[in-house]
Amino acid sequence: MDLGLKDKLAVVTGSTQGIGRAIAAALMAEGARVIVNGRNARTVDETVRALSATGEVHGVVADLATAAGAQQVLDAAAEIGPVDILVNNVGYFEVKPFADISDADWLAMFELNVMSGVRLTRGLFDGMLARDWGRVVFIASEQSVKPNPDMLHYAMTKTAQVSLARGLAESTRGTGVTVNSVLVAPTWSEGVETFLGKIGPEQGKTVDEMRTAYFDGPGQASLLQRWATPDEIAAQVVFLCSPRAAAVNGAAQRVDGGIVRSLF
Ligand code: NAD
Repeated sequence: MDLGLKDKLAVVTGSTQGIGRAIAAALMAEGARVIVNGRNARTVDETVRALSATGEVHGVVADLATAAGAQQVLDAAAEIGPVDILVNNVGYFEVKPFADISDADWLAMFELNVMSGVRLTRGLFDGMLARDWGRVVFIASEQSVKPNPDMLHYAMTKTAQVSLARGLAESTRGTGVTVNSVLVAPTWSEGVETFLGKIGPEQGKTVDEMRTAYFDGPGQASLLQRWATPDEIAAQVVFLCSPRAAAVNGAAQRVDGGIVRSLF
């Protein structure tokens, strides 16, 4: 199926590894031009080098936990051309008991996971509406609707993204622009591997043991009963970014491996 993405220009935040990189690669496989981003020049360069084998890709080194970093991405995008697709993917996660989450922790989580998307969408949304076509996708989580009590600062940001996406979609009435969020399953990414590598020793477990044990513990309700792959998430995101998904707007799309046991 031709998804109709040829030559569309997409910004994918936090895309030097994990889900973001898989989304960038999948968009490029459909002929889109992509701007990738990360904080580190070496990993951004490596990503650009690897992805350039399949098409046009640009790299922007910018810390999206800051307003200046978001502006750097907007400035770079303005030089390349009108942005058709924005995938607000960047985000980080950590386990912390509620009592230990400081004000600074709450604000840092909000700054990266929510404000990066707010700032970039604010910079690109009006152009999409004026051109009567665009796609904004927020990479949220199963935790948007099923907060883990040991990661409440993270879960809060993932719920905020769903609210943002739905609220922004209200301004697209009658246009060719859509705004959606994706409730992502537990997915085996480099970030998750690092994350489990940090908490594993506290529980006397290796990363491999943590990987398997997850589905006897917090992941028990998963119908998939394994970690999703970044490519499996990217497949759904790329569809949402395509002209073929015109009728999906304001939605919180679940690609959650069935872990959220609810009808809607
Ligand atoms: P990851 O840690 O593997 O990759 C994160 C990417 O963001 C990397 O490219 C990193 O360089 C970049 N990044 C981090 N901080 C940055 C900053 N301040 N500025 C710019 N770039 C920065 O993460 P992942 O597991 O692929 O997760 C991606 C998104 O998917 C996140 O929003 C996460 O909340 C969401 N998600 C992940 C899972 C999962 O199980 N992996 C589940 C649900 C939702």
